[in-house]
Amino acid sequence: MDFQITAPQTLPLEANGHRLSISGKSEAEVYFIAGIPQVSGVAYQCAVCDERPAYRVTDTAIEVENPCPYPDGLTTAITLEVPSGKIIVTDDLRPIYTWDDAGLASYNSALGQAQAVHGMAAAGCAYGPVGNSCPGLYRTGPDTYVIARPGYDENDTPDLPESDRLAGIVTDLWAYSIADFEHWKSRGGDPDSLGWTDTVIDVTPGTYRFTHHSGERDFDHDAPGAVVFAHVERIG
Ligand SMILES: [Zn+2]
Repeated sequence: MDFQITAPQTLPLEANGHRLSISGKSEAEVYFIAGIPQVSGVAYQCAVCDERPAYRVTDTAIEVENPCPYPDGLTTAITLEVPSGKIIVTDDLRPIYTWDDAGLASYNSALGQAQAVHGMAAAGCAYGPVGNSCPGLYRTGPDTYVIARPGYDENDTPDLPESDRLAGIVTDLWAYSIADFEHWKSRGGDPDSLGWTDTVIDVTPGTYRFTHHSGERDFDHDAPGAVVFAHVERIG
């Protein structure tokens, strides 16, 4: 058997929809050990689907064999029941609301984060990752809101009106957590424990849909203008 190790070469990476690039360049290095390709310079797992890619190397490219199941990334929609007409808005509502991450994709992937969003929604909490952005909850209409961080012009004027900002969200957890205030209390939430990072606001009682965007392919945490992590609307 031939255990020859070849010199590394750089080839275009055809990622088949996966997000594997670390450098932002769509190329990778490959060398062969005993004819088996070893690919380096890229992530071990897709940042969206969390799969470890299987590579096929041709004379002209490094190709991933299986397509990414989420080539456009993930938009995650959940609903939150707010019968009380009061919501608590903060970064972290653990341990009252948690999700079980056993068997889930890595939280470092968009899929793992979408699974966390669904797990928290099943527990009764609208949750979503926001990076280290310190976003706010802004009113955009009678029963519509966004969770967003504003962009600023050269005079430090935000492009989302401060007058529409109902709550700020600190990012110790790099997430927002929103629940029906009475539901939270019924699970053991103590209103006397609330601090400056927690806001209770009045909304129209009903069912709210949260559409979370941070797992989408084109989502840009560093966009110069306002970055909308989630749209919130009353649907019933
Ligand atoms: Zn993928």
